[in-house]
Amino acid sequence: MAANGEDFSNASMENLMGHVEKRSIFTIVFIVAMQKEAQPLIERLRLVKEVNSPFPKEVAWILFKGMYKDLNINIVCPGKDSALGVDSVCTVPASLVTYASIQALQPDLIINAGTAGGFKAKGARICDVYIVSSSAFHDRRIPVPVLDLYGVGMRKAFPTPNLIKELNLKVGRLSTGDSMDMSPHDKESITANDATVKDMEGAAVAYVADIFKVPTILIKGVTDIVDGNRPTSEEFLENLAAVTAQLDESITKVIDFISGKCLSDL
Ligand code: SAH
Repeated sequence: MAANGEDFSNASMENLMGHVEKRSIFTIVFIVAMQKEAQPLIERLRLVKEVNSPFPKEVAWILFKGMYKDLNINIVCPGKDSALGVDSVCTVPASLVTYASIQALQPDLIINAGTAGGFKAKGARICDVYIVSSSAFHDRRIPVPVLDLYGVGMRKAFPTPNLIKELNLKVGRLSTGDSMDMSPHDKESITANDATVKDMEGAAVAYVADIFKVPTILIKGVTDIVDGNRPTSEEFLENLAAVTAQLDESITKVIDFISGKCLSDL
């Protein structure tokens, strides 16, 4: 009886695993630092702001949701800083919203989408959209054995060879830090990280998603050339609208590709 019971439960476990593995992706959570970056996608997919937010009442985090094809799409933005009224960019808000979104929405897939600086020496140009192959930090310098590696925190993104091939997307490594400018120390670490794009959230999202083993894709549109001759913030503001439009187009293609597929098809 016990043996039979065990056999049965093993068999059903195998079924269940097979089922999980082959199941189509259903819930996607986009983590987007600035609402301006998310707006074109919110409009295109006709997402609506969730009035019954699953998040604590104290936070400014905003959830936009809706069905697109067979996908349950959620976009989570960290919202405005309560004191200064600017977008809550950087790694701390990004980690918090990623954690809370995983708890509340149980996504099959996380997509961190946003803008980034690009390095022309690595082939990046304004308006390019990159799928990130791996992310790491460039401002967590801890010169102690092993802690140095923890500081860098390199993580591979979920592999999407079919998606990259089908949509003909550029692929590059991402380096994340809490500054928009680039100090000489940061520059050294970014070079060591072999990064093509540089942002302020990606590696933090990847860190949290990795804890909960939620597959994560990072998709970044280039607003400014870090190794060019224009001031970063000026170039960023000038190109923000054009890049978010480009990003919106690429993300739509990405979700059209994902629709009806399972993780192993990506
Ligand atoms: N002045 C801007 C500030 C945005 S901070 C505003 O309108 O509020 C820059 C944002 O874009 C971050 O979310 C970051 O991830 C991304 N980003 C774009 N270019 C970047 C760069 N060169 N370095 C770091 N982050 C960059």
